[in-house]
Amino acid sequence: MCPFCSGREKQTPPEVMAVRTGDTQPDGPGWKVRVVPNKYPAFGPADGVLEESGHGHFHHTMNAIGVHEVLVSSPNHQHDLGDLPLSQVRYVVDTMVERYKANKTLSCVEYLLLIHNHGRDAGASLEHPHSQLFGFPLVPSAVADEIEGMARYRSEWGKCAFCHMIEIEQADAIRMVFENDGFATFAPFASSVPFETWIVPKHHSARFEEMTEINRAEFAEALKDLTSRISRGLNDPPFNFYIHTGPTKAAPALDYHWHLELVPKLTIAAGFELGSHISINVRAPEDAAEFLRSSLSGPDTGKSASPGCAQ
Ligand SMILES: [Zn+2]
Ligand SMILES: [Zn+2]
Ligand SMILES: [Zn+2]
Repeated sequence: MCPFCSGREKQTPPEVMAVRTGDTQPDGPGWKVRVVPNKYPAFGPADGVLEESGHGHFHHTMNAIGVHEVLVSSPNHQHDLGDLPLSQVRYVVDTMVERYKANKTLSCVEYLLLIHNHGRDAGASLEHPHSQLFGFPLVPSAVADEIEGMARYRSEWGKCAFCHMIEIEQADAIRMVFENDGFATFAPFASSVPFETWIVPKHHSARFEEMTEINRAEFAEALKDLTSRISRGLNDPPFNFYIHTGPTKAAPALDYHWHLELVPKLTIAAGFELGSHISINVRAPEDAAEFLRSSLSGPDTGKSASPGCAQ
């Protein structure tokens, strides 16, 4: 039992949303997915006023206004997304979308980043499976760089880099892990770390929260599939995933292609990687994809063949 378990609702701040059965009451049992403000928020308050100092100098600072929510995946303390029924993963996806929509209109929120840490070594301080949504007053460089790179790509090639990437991955097939009508899961070419895997919508779309009902069902299937493959194939490693989507205040016509990036924690960045920003990936994505394609075949023993990427 932990603060995220059913029956312990009073140990968290009051819920801001929950998927509930029947006529059960807020902050009591009977929920399927529960969203609460983080008890120790990285950003807040949501109605704060942005204060900046030292603009243009080394010591440029701003206050950390915004939101920080916890999305508890299910009442089950043990089972993460790969082990939950597809119907439950769908509730989680619906909740993610609803919280994006609810927070994107906040004046202080320029970006909403949804992340999922699995395992203590991946930064999960509580074992009970949960995701976190951070809303903050700037666009992170990880996304700003992608937007800029995609604009450059379009001016050079006349098409979206991610749409083109999916065409290439489908043709090559060697890095592809899973596909349904709406999404492609693949190990990206020249990935930084072993078993890094992305889920990308096949249809060009800048924003995660604009998924249709059908897209949500397809995305839930792809998310359950990938987390199952990683957990079963690699013997339940720590991992992080995060969703890169368009900034909240960008023009409606923003040219971006949202996606999910999953990064297992099987190796550590050491002196060379930290000193050079060059990655040495000891498992080629082509090999990783082949391994993940076969990782759901055979009985679920909770054990797996060695992924062969220890350092
Ligand atoms: Zn728990
Ligand atoms: Zn695209
Ligand atoms: Zn990205």
